[in-house]
Amino acid sequence: MAVSGFTYTGLPARVVFGQGTLAKLPEELERLGASRALVLATPQQEAEARALADRLGPRAAGVFAGAVMHTPVEVSERALALAREIGADVTVAVGGGSTIGLGKAIALRTDLPQIAVPTTYAGSEMTPIVGETAGGEKTTQRSLAVLPEVVIYDVDLTLSLPPALSATSGMNAIAHAVEALYAPEGNPIVSLMAEEAIGALARGLPRVVAAPRDVEARSDALYGAWLCGACLGLVGMALHHKLCHVLGGSFGLPHAETHTVVLPHAAAYNARGAAEAMRRTAKALGAENAPRGLYTLAKSLGAPLALRDLGLKEEDLDRAAEIAARAPYPNPVPIERAAIRRLLADAWAGTPPG
Ligand code: NAD
Repeated sequence: MAVSGFTYTGLPARVVFGQGTLAKLPEELERLGASRALVLATPQQEAEARALADRLGPRAAGVFAGAVMHTPVEVSERALALAREIGADVTVAVGGGSTIGLGKAIALRTDLPQIAVPTTYAGSEMTPIVGETAGGEKTTQRSLAVLPEVVIYDVDLTLSLPPALSATSGMNAIAHAVEALYAPEGNPIVSLMAEEAIGALARGLPRVVAAPRDVEARSDALYGAWLCGACLGLVGMALHHKLCHVLGGSFGLPHAETHTVVLPHAAAYNARGAAEAMRRTAKALGAENAPRGLYTLAKSLGAPLALRDLGLKEEDLDRAAEIAARAPYPNPVPIERAAIRRLLADAWAGTPPG
């Protein structure tokens, strides 16, 4: 296909990728001129955070292991108070999107540099986006101030990610790449990353689920997740992300699982307006048809396939469709409430897409 005009804006981030790369953390702190790190984690990953702080010795000024989903401002303010009290000059977030979100919330208020050490495939570390919750409402904003300066991908840290979470976190990542392929501001560079990302995850995830400590499989998956995060950071998302936002925000459905269930159905909805994106997705999946290929991949990973299994009630479908169709946004196929209702009904029942 001939290349037509496009605009590409690169995001400044240093990425250190590999096995055992966490050992490079002291070097990376030095490069930033930082010597008082506040290490962030969830309560579930506190032991990892403390072990890391021990390894850093005097360069670690404190540990805050209170990160939770959806970045509530009360939690960010407690972490911020600790950062000020100990005179932190950098944050080191070890964990998934929730922990990295906390580092971003601190950066938004202080401009402290961040080193992100991702342990899931969510991709937040590559984006200038921060979502925060206040008074039960989640708002999202974009600012270069929240883009981590350094990202250390250490494959070893993902070996403990349970197979079920690896599967849904990986499908969540693939969703960023699929939507990047049909984003209005998409470009050939982002598409290259997206196709490579889907291929790496489609190759890696089945092996990860079969053998969670297979380092090569984990490397493929983490490499794919990085590229998916880059896609999310570079271009806007559409119907799929909107639906997941509604299902998470208004109905309390779990983040990665919801992405996994909705993705094949959102792709089927958009297929007729995004033929080239579907061709590239299918090619990367090694499938004939992109929505079916995504459904088959999720199924082969033993991931959830139906919204009803995630706690959505059938009587909620009307309201979900109504909220999702309310505000217009760019999408390859026009958003029509009745068609969205059918999409959601398929996703609720878990039938194959389309
Ligand atoms: P998460 O960060 O909430 O992690 C889920 C659980 O898994 C936590 O208990 C965590 O401690 C644990 N965990 C993480 N890594 C592990 C490992 N290797 N081994 C064992 N346990 C591990 O989940 P997530 O899916 O990574 O992130 C979801 C959040 O990130 C959502 O709030 C989402 O909105 C946000 N997010 C934001 C962006 C962005 O660009 N701003 C992008 C993607 C996701």
